[in-house]
Amino acid sequence: MNNQIIDFRSDTVTKPTAGMLDAMMNAKVGDDVFGEDETVHNLEAKLAGMFNMEAGLFCPSGTMTNQIGIKCFTQPMDEVICDQTAHVYRYEIGGIAFHSAASVRLLHGQRGILTPELIEPEINEDNIHYPNSSLVVLENTVNKGGGSCYNISQIAAIHYLCNIKGLKLHLDGARIFNALTATGDNAHEYGKYFDGISVCLSKGLGAPVGSVLLGSKATIHKARKIRKAFGGGMRQAGFLAAAGIYALDNHVNRLQEDHHHAKSLASALAKTSYVKSVMPIETNIVIFEVEQGSAEKVVHQFKEKGLLSNTTSSSTVRLVTHLDISPSMIDQAIEIILHLR
Ligand SMILES: *Cc1c(COP(=O)(O)O)cnc(C)c1O
Repeated sequence: MNNQIIDFRSDTVTKPTAGMLDAMMNAKVGDDVFGEDETVHNLEAKLAGMFNMEAGLFCPSGTMTNQIGIKCFTQPMDEVICDQTAHVYRYEIGGIAFHSAASVRLLHGQRGILTPELIEPEINEDNIHYPNSSLVVLENTVNKGGGSCYNISQIAAIHYLCNIKGLKLHLDGARIFNALTATGDNAHEYGKYFDGISVCLSKGLGAPVGSVLLGSKATIHKARKIRKAFGGGMRQAGFLAAAGIYALDNHVNRLQEDHHHAKSLASALAKTSYVKSVMPIETNIVIFEVEQGSAEKVVHQFKEKGLLSNTTSSSTVRLVTHLDISPSMIDQAIEIILHLR
């Protein structure tokens, strides 16, 4: 028990629970490219209903749901507006250029959080020299922002601006349920404000695979064709969709526990001399600052004690809490953190 590996590298490392595997094994499946997999339909309809959107599209990854969304809402030579830390820009290997032939305008939000005041001056006017600003992408929670989140009134204000300027609004909701847990907002409100929402099932929710793109019927009709062109049409995908349905039914209400665990780790880190600062904890991500150039070393020292983490720069380290982290692992992690040197 004392030598268990505690894996804080990401909330993607979770393995399916017994109950989830059971749901997967018992799924009713069919060929989803023929539109015949009822479990996939059920997952898409369930999420669309939760977020008050017309339709959904099950995809293998959040990268795919984001990139399909961006392709649906842009034309070549358009410009996408997002924060400089955005996953769609930094961690999707230039997919916006590759798939959509669009340029990107990077803004500097506070921990990745944008405001209408930041966005408005960056919307191009109609001019022969300028790309057409057609889409704003928000991320909720913000990964690089240390799990910072938007509440619904901040989103409503950005939607208002996009609406009058004729821009579409897409949400990278890789950790949307963490944001909803932290803010207490209702998922149903989101449908009023976004043209597209990407919801990840394989992060905090603990499913092995999958994300769902939500949008209008027309958007999802187009998205389904783009998914096929991207090679993302799946056949008996109901086995995977069943894991997503199980996660929505069983793993949303427990996210509060992950947030609580993150707070416990943060307060231990704040007590040590090797940590210079810890980003405020809003959800399940802990990012802390160490001496310039020593982040790798801290990650290595943690690893020798069985605690796995990642650097996010040469001076910052990230810990992510998730479904497979138990209270006893948190106790053990706190011991490791407090006695590192
Ligand atoms: C993980 C993640 C994604 C999607 O990642 P995939 O590995 O492609 O599923 C998108 N956005 C954010 C913010 C993420 O953290």
